[in-house]
Amino acid sequence: MIKIKDLSLTCFSVIVSTVVLVLFNIPFFKFVAGHSEGDSHIIIISLILLMLVANFFATYLFCFLMRGFGKVLTALSFFLNAICIYFINVYNVMMDESMLGNVFNTRYSEASGFISWGLIGTVLVLGVIPCILIFKTKINWGTWKQFWIRIGVSLAVIITIVLLNMGNFLWIGKYDSELGGLLMPWSYTVNTARHIIIKHQENRQEILLPDASITDDEKAVFVLVIGESARAANFSLYGYGRQTNPRLSTIDSLHIFKAKSCATYTTAAVQGILEHEDTGKLYEILPNYLFRTGVDVFWRTANWGEPPLHIDNYISDEQLKAVSSSEDRDYDGILLEGLKEEILASGRNKILAVLHTSTSHGPAYGTKYPPRFEVFKPVCTTVETADKDIEGLINAYDNTIIYTDYLLSSLIDTLRTLPPSYHTSMLFVSDHGESLGENDLFMHGVPMAIAPPQQYEIPFMVWTSDPWRLLKQTEEADQHQVFHSVLNWLSIDSPVYDPKKSIFE
Ligand SMILES: [Zn+2]
Repeated sequence: MIKIKDLSLTCFSVIVSTVVLVLFNIPFFKFVAGHSEGDSHIIIISLILLMLVANFFATYLFCFLMRGFGKVLTALSFFLNAICIYFINVYNVMMDESMLGNVFNTRYSEASGFISWGLIGTVLVLGVIPCILIFKTKINWGTWKQFWIRIGVSLAVIITIVLLNMGNFLWIGKYDSELGGLLMPWSYTVNTARHIIIKHQENRQEILLPDASITDDEKAVFVLVIGESARAANFSLYGYGRQTNPRLSTIDSLHIFKAKSCATYTTAAVQGILEHEDTGKLYEILPNYLFRTGVDVFWRTANWGEPPLHIDNYISDEQLKAVSSSEDRDYDGILLEGLKEEILASGRNKILAVLHTSTSHGPAYGTKYPPRFEVFKPVCTTVETADKDIEGLINAYDNTIIYTDYLLSSLIDTLRTLPPSYHTSMLFVSDHGESLGENDLFMHGVPMAIAPPQQYEIPFMVWTSDPWRLLKQTEEADQHQVFHSVLNWLSIDSPVYDPKKSIFE
């Protein structure tokens, strides 16, 4: 019987890491080579090094700390890698979060249809044989001193490679789901964890707010438009040197507030817009609360990341697209499709419509608006070179703001055509801002405590059809005021309503 004796844990981890790279990550590197533009050598070499060190790190860490159980985990990863690589090669799938969701929801009868000789052969050669070798190997675990040196050096190398590749972040941002879905064994481990977290969030119980009531019979409509990655600095209404608000700047009854977002990433910021105060807990959010109170609530979305919604009327851009022939159907303009008719058809006196847009979502800004809105040219068409073509990147971003200007002004024009008995208000607030290369930062998501102003200074603008409620004479507003302002506009009486936080008198 073969028995591999006294292999040091360092050698064992190096072998495992190299074998995993060679056997299971060819599709990953094919994807990288096929999608990087220009000089792809640097990114490929960086990724190879990063994977070798990261897999070494994980193998060494688990085996040193858990000994025999660490070996079991390593063996299990080979077995699962073998199954995944078979499906990636044969069915061209990615092990992303939705795919893992499908896997967990599949019944045995459906799954058994995939069992084939090819799958069995792949699992035997790439899974079972390595497992046997792993169990036959007697490992010399080494000392704690060696452990801290190996772990410290690996972490330092990982951090260095990441820092040296800051310039490739845009490229990684564009393909993050594909890269994450092909990288073994991280794809299925990280995405399984993500799937569990998402399921858990969906099932999170919100804490109900005390019952509210509607206090009059007037027709009142509130349209809340949640922007995506729109930063105040690029709106001419906020002092930008370029004309990015040709339409909104002609609307006298539009009021502009200075505002900061409560977070720099979508999920936290959207929750901030919809909750009554920042408690760190999930309280009943605005649409759910109003729906339960008897308000007609529509949610139209080209985005994601909102807390769990419990309303009847939730519609995605894909669903709207299916019934539209408008030239905006592939862009956020689709969210306005049929909105007026829906408001008029409502049998309720109080209506809240939320439009969750994705208009300035990066890094491919140039794909987020119809061609006729390409006012600033040339635009950067590939994110691969965006860090070297900041002007082109800003041109594309500014075009998304011009498109936002068009969407909001069209929305106001539409709301103006409602019968005079309707008291209507529109509020546009972005979830967070965006970095466009300032200090070599791109996109958003830097922790709030150290985030640059570009990532949290956001547009917050309000339009009202008539003086049914007057705006307070104040220059500033924040996302947590949205909840109270909507309650005020729709004449909702609630124990949590705070008149100080409403933007209306
Ligand atoms: Zn966002």
